[in-house]
Amino acid sequence: MRRLCTLLCCLVATWALCQTERPNIVFIFSDDHAVQAIGAYGSKINTTPQIDRIAKDGAVYLNSFCANSICGPSRACILTGKHSHINGFRRNGDRFDGGQPTFPKILQATGYQTAIVGKWHLNTDPTGFDYWEVLPDQGSYYNPDFLQMGGGKKHYEGYCTDIITDRAIGWLEKRDKSKPFLLMCQHKAPHRNWAPAQRHFDLFKDKPVPEPATLFDDYSGRSALLKENEMSVARHMHWQHDMKFKGDNLYTNHFASGTPNAEYRRMTDAQRAAWDAYYEPLNQAFLDKMKSGQMDETAIVRWKYQRYITDYLKCIAAVDENVGRVLDYLESSGLSKNTVVIYSADQGFYLGEHGWYDKRWMFEESLKMPFLIRWPGVVPPATRSTALIQNIDYAPTFLEMAGAPIPADVQGRSLVPLLRSGGTPPADWRDAIYYAYYENAAVHNVPVHDGVRTDRYKLMWFPRTREWQLFDLARDPMEMRSLHEDPDHAAILAGLQKRCADLRDLYDVNSAVIPSTRGDEPKWKERDALLTQNAKRGGYDLAFIGDSITQGWEGKGKVVWEKYYAHRNAINLGIGGDRTEHVIWRLTHGQWNNVKPKAAVVMIGTNNTGHFDQDPEQVAQGVGQILDILTQKTPGTKILLLGIFPRGETPWDLKRLNNVAINQLIRRLADGERVQYMDISGVFLEKDGTLSKDIMPDLLHLNEEGYERWARAIEPKLKEFGL
Ligand code: CA
Repeated sequence: MRRLCTLLCCLVATWALCQTERPNIVFIFSDDHAVQAIGAYGSKINTTPQIDRIAKDGAVYLNSFCANSICGPSRACILTGKHSHINGFRRNGDRFDGGQPTFPKILQATGYQTAIVGKWHLNTDPTGFDYWEVLPDQGSYYNPDFLQMGGGKKHYEGYCTDIITDRAIGWLEKRDKSKPFLLMCQHKAPHRNWAPAQRHFDLFKDKPVPEPATLFDDYSGRSALLKENEMSVARHMHWQHDMKFKGDNLYTNHFASGTPNAEYRRMTDAQRAAWDAYYEPLNQAFLDKMKSGQMDETAIVRWKYQRYITDYLKCIAAVDENVGRVLDYLESSGLSKNTVVIYSADQGFYLGEHGWYDKRWMFEESLKMPFLIRWPGVVPPATRSTALIQNIDYAPTFLEMAGAPIPADVQGRSLVPLLRSGGTPPADWRDAIYYAYYENAAVHNVPVHDGVRTDRYKLMWFPRTREWQLFDLARDPMEMRSLHEDPDHAAILAGLQKRCADLRDLYDVNSAVIPSTRGDEPKWKERDALLTQNAKRGGYDLAFIGDSITQGWEGKGKVVWEKYYAHRNAINLGIGGDRTEHVIWRLTHGQWNNVKPKAAVVMIGTNNTGHFDQDPEQVAQGVGQILDILTQKTPGTKILLLGIFPRGETPWDLKRLNNVAINQLIRRLADGERVQYMDISGVFLEKDGTLSKDIMPDLLHLNEEGYERWARAIEPKLKEFGL
């Protein structure tokens, strides 16, 4: 008995020791803070003495990257340790599935107290936190509201960056001091529209910020897509929102109109008076110069850059001070020694480079994320590492720090071995990071792209124009000339293309679900425009969605269409050659905006097979995505999902077998009510399973008799749907 007691005491003592040794984690995170604006990264435009304290006592990671350069997605990557296509949050506006495993949840389950204060931006309530108080959506700089755990909002008077820190330190004070903790202190700043605190108005007064060398980039030597951007200092700064003018836009050639300065509306009278006292004389001076003709195009861009960059840097000044407050608190409360402190931001940002503000592109300025870490006794002071790290690594890192299990499906890798070794990666560390941006042609008109970056080279792929871009970062650090057509780089291009394909495989990237246009093909572009216009008219009861087999209702199927559908307000949304990813693009770019039919007939996927031999599982995900889009946009529409029609002469045709495999998967996507599945292959096939050229002359597309059989086969179901 005594022995048992001794053993138990030992176990309890060991457990208690483990408990005390598990480090606390303070993860300070800001929004859009580029490394070019951090002292420890060599900023030429500002100082950040408080953030630099972390670098001095710990480490700076110089090659730290995001997986998807946009607010919500980066946060989802961090929480899950997985790329966007796996965690499901691919673009802002998606809803984060809080049911999935995240590192705060796992830390919580292993005895950590967990809290998040500040910006969240994932459109569902935080999960895995003992305490949370977060900004609604983007939040506000002035007098912000915070969503509360019990529901509702709370209004605070003051400046957001200060208030987030107050609330974070407040939680540290009142936490259960017997447990290790995770605190995520997430600032709104320095996100657009860059509204500084009153105490920082005079920073940079009469001290112009140096311009980046590429402020007047003409985008030559790279994809024409760069020119189509809508994020330039020259053309896309909003008169009120960004540039802080009041009243009507007086120079619509130079400034965008429409978006008000919402911060100004939130201010108290005293705040407004201080704001006006600072901005109005400067604005007036600019307007006077404009009126007297002293400002040419270049001078106006330069003025806009100064207004933008000084506001941005002033917002960072408040972040920096508040990082200092947290570090001071940890010291004064005796927590420093056993607390890991990380400073990072959701992605980088263009500070005038390439003539831009904003992020999204895979170019260095927005691909890079700050990552500074202090872990006393583990990370040697003043470490500077060039290892390739990514935001999907944070979750496994935090878990390993805490001695918590890392789920096997986490895609990132723990940085703990690097942290312990002074920044030197282990021999089997990654040679390249994978990046993917999904928000096609949405805000700022940056196209979908993905790619890889090694320590020296960067390869990007733009599906919209089917273009590769290749950069040698050693010779061309500003990425001013793509080498993808340079014969001297052919082997490097081929090697990187293979690396890109292999990393897509490694991370289960599925091109069947990545929205893609074929806008570079004139015929496709023309048809897309026509269908979008048809869709706009609205008033449809029935829609057919698909590829050339659907488009063929206007060709070989015309007579049958007349007979069955012309009188039923039907629309044909078929485009020859389309795969699932193109249909996804079309349905999210205008072709479903005004179409709210009673029923939709969906048949898609044979080109994923024919052109790509794509894995059936991936194609099924593409079809699933299409159904999700229809469900989201028109929940009242009944969907008839058709199995992909048979192709090839015999049942042993490999492409036909691929379609069979896809069909076996997609039939499970039907709920039997709103979404119903039919496989009508039987009406096209002979008894022995061969396909007759009398039905499909090219063994893929239907003739008139084929269309007649199709129409007849689905007619009962359409009647059932109320047509
Ligand atoms: Ca951001």
